[in-house]
Amino acid sequence: MDLVTNSLANIDNWYWGIWHPSIFTHLLYTLVLTQITIVSVTLYLHRHSAHRALELHSVLQHFFRFWLWLTTGQGTKSWTAIHRKHHAMTDIEGDPHSPVIFGIKAILFTGVELYRASDTQEVRDKYGKGTPEDWIERNLYSRFTFGGVASMLLINVLLFGPMGLTIWAIQMMWIPVMAAGIINGIGHHTGYRNFECCDSSKNVIPWAIFIGGEELHNNHHTYPNSAKLSVKPWEFDIGWAWIKFFQFFRLAKPLSTGPIARPVPGRSVVDIDMAWALMNDRFAVMANYAQKVIAPHVLDEYRLADKATRKLYKRAQKLLRKDEGLVDVAGRERIIELTKSSPILKTIYELKLQLLDIWAKRSGNAEEMVKAVRQWCVDAESSGVLALQEFSDELKSYTLPAPSQVI
Ligand SMILES: [Zn+2]
Ligand SMILES: [Zn+2]
Repeated sequence: MDLVTNSLANIDNWYWGIWHPSIFTHLLYTLVLTQITIVSVTLYLHRHSAHRALELHSVLQHFFRFWLWLTTGQGTKSWTAIHRKHHAMTDIEGDPHSPVIFGIKAILFTGVELYRASDTQEVRDKYGKGTPEDWIERNLYSRFTFGGVASMLLINVLLFGPMGLTIWAIQMMWIPVMAAGIINGIGHHTGYRNFECCDSSKNVIPWAIFIGGEELHNNHHTYPNSAKLSVKPWEFDIGWAWIKFFQFFRLAKPLSTGPIARPVPGRSVVDIDMAWALMNDRFAVMANYAQKVIAPHVLDEYRLADKATRKLYKRAQKLLRKDEGLVDVAGRERIIELTKSSPILKTIYELKLQLLDIWAKRSGNAEEMVKAVRQWCVDAESSGVLALQEFSDELKSYTLPAPSQVI
């Protein structure tokens, strides 16, 4: 009888897997595994493979590739190609997953299907260059795409029994929900913008720890080749913390870190270095313009206006700083009204357009650009608007950093 009871107990134990941890350990195990997957996506697929912003030691590359095969079945070439296409055609026809094109609901609930639909041979050939085509890619990862996730299921069930199935389901859902749904959807729909780059990208939250730093999506679209996604002092990119950790062990090396032009106190020259610095870092320059010139004057006009005209200035800041390509017909009409009602705002808005015009029309010709920037500074200084004069002084203090400062 004892023998039968013991055997039943053993079967019962085996049913619950060979590891019998607490609920807390189950949760911790799931969290650690999903975090490793997120780090693999953001560091290896995104920052290293798609954007070449980061060098990774081959040992780390192989680990990430193996881990992604095991937990997502995601191939490097497909991911890289679709993501590069997203950057090449952001929020316009051809973008594989834009909420502006497909609607936010479609991205949130059918993001994976949209993603799969764009995974074609043509896209892989055009955008997937430079991705691994070695023996292990050909004979394991690409050949047995689902072999990895099936092995992961087996490992989880062996360890935890039926609970392993739940953990596996969470693992499988994590990237489709977090990356395909939330980043591709919310990251182009809801949040704040540090920079008026020419697409609808948003930073979802400043503390980007849930999806490896990828929540700082507006910063990323502005500086796509930067290994670091945080820009403001109050933003935190956990992916960057991992990069610094691996860099300490000489396993990673960032190649670029975003905004590169910095003002040098005491400098006041319009030369080629200054013009290139402005060109390279134009989004940061325009963000400064919005903060130091547009914002205080809109606020002044709002305070001086009577009750009836005050509503004209509501959200005017946002409208006047917006990229011209993103202003709709109603927005244009409001800008006309605003500039009619305030000569100062008219000057500020016209000088903003002139500044944008410099990099739009003269980006390939350094001497032309220097001439245009010099003229812009003359116009700003003679405008009679103090904030414009100060901004002109600030522009003259910009220069390119020494090469050692770039990394
Ligand atoms: Zn995007
Ligand atoms: Zn990207």
